[in-house]
Amino acid sequence: MTQQSPAAGATPIPLRLVGRPVVGGLAAPWVACHHIDGTPVIGLMDGSRQVTCLIRRLCQACGDALSSPLVLLARARDFAAGYVAEPGLHPECAAYTAACCPMLNGTMHRYRATPRPARQLRCGNPACPCRAWAAAGDSQHRSGHAAEPFAAVWIGLGDNRIHRASKNGNPDGITLAGARKIRLLPAAAGARGEPEDARLLSALALLTDLTGQQAPPVPGPAAASPRR
Ligand SMILES: [Zn+2]
Ligand SMILES: [Zn+2]
Repeated sequence: MTQQSPAAGATPIPLRLVGRPVVGGLAAPWVACHHIDGTPVIGLMDGSRQVTCLIRRLCQACGDALSSPLVLLARARDFAAGYVAEPGLHPECAAYTAACCPMLNGTMHRYRATPRPARQLRCGNPACPCRAWAAAGDSQHRSGHAAEPFAAVWIGLGDNRIHRASKNGNPDGITLAGARKIRLLPAAAGARGEPEDARLLSALALLTDLTGQQAPPVPGPAAASPRR
């Protein structure tokens, strides 16, 4: 879910991610698409790596085995669906991702309005799988929709359970049940616009339902004057 951001380079790369290729100052996540020469494409998730992470309980950022506790990054719509497509992360890998990803740290307010041109995704090597990436779409292309608030959902390794697609039974995410601790990311807590406020509040309501506990307080105007 990451791409280049002003915070990339300014944020120290955690030890777990030191071996990852660095693009634009940002340690590229393991789950990203990679050209045949190993160059990652930040912002484009590799479907087969995603499934590997889900099944083998690997961190999507560093590719190493997860342990308890781990972090899922989820939006209101993910809570509504009951699962999140993005695999889990070590807490330090999640903190780095939250600090550097422009959709999470508040530096980018909208998803790109159009997919990246195919030529930007292709390296020119006819043997490279990038020839098929353009057709698969760009995960950062969400028709110019506003960035959504994210919450860091802490769960135990035993709760890192695979969600399967109803149409074919294939692994497509991690269920959001069993949350132990939920923290809104700073960019989400400082929600800027009306739609974000609404999503944030609905997320909190859903979180409260999921955990059976009182949701954390929302700092700032979103809590003081919720708009509907
Ligand atoms: Zn390529
Ligand atoms: Zn990790």
